[in-house]
Amino acid sequence: MNRIRLLLLLLVQWSIFNGQCSMAFAQDDEPVDIDEWQVMKVEAAKDPFAHGDQFTINFANYTEEEWCYPLPGAKFLSPYGGARHHGGTDIKTHAGDTTRAAFPGEVILSGPHYGYGYCVIMRHANGLETLYSHHSRNLVKVGQWLHAGEPVGIEGRTGRATTDHLHFETRVKGTAFDSERIFDHANHTLRRQIFVVTKQKNGTLKFTSEKIE
Ligand SMILES: [Zn+2]
Repeated sequence: MNRIRLLLLLLVQWSIFNGQCSMAFAQDDEPVDIDEWQVMKVEAAKDPFAHGDQFTINFANYTEEEWCYPLPGAKFLSPYGGARHHGGTDIKTHAGDTTRAAFPGEVILSGPHYGYGYCVIMRHANGLETLYSHHSRNLVKVGQWLHAGEPVGIEGRTGRATTDHLHFETRVKGTAFDSERIFDHANHTLRRQIFVVTKQKNGTLKFTSEKIE
């Protein structure tokens, strides 16, 4: 299936390159879920600020299928920020355990990546990106679509890591923010709030949450 999708993607890019109409697809009688996939593709890749300088995610409405704690049962190791400007949240279970997609989305990077070691970055339809690093092995490929909770990699200590753990980041357009804003790491739950991301005049992003009463 993935090979077929890759071929179709290449065909689209080739068609665009040649200035041709990609409607050629409609004549393809291969029974693949191309329509659904194209929607997902567009959703995952869309600019969250396409309709203005602010977007919101209503986590209060998320069903159990729409999110997953990235390392079930994990112990909290170290928080985002602080003196060393830590770009993520470190959590830990045991080497060899499986890290999981926090939300449905598309894999946009999978491979060794500087100090991150074996690292995966996903882009989600809700406008967020998530990063999973220090894997001993990645289990996904670029372009793959994952449901929330599907395996992403194997917990390890590749890159700059002194113990087996998951360095988990939440980002918007590459800008990291504290994942504690959306996940309660002590209880392994999603914070049932409206999460608001605002692009400010100086271009920096502001992250706020509105409680649901
Ligand atoms: Zn870390």
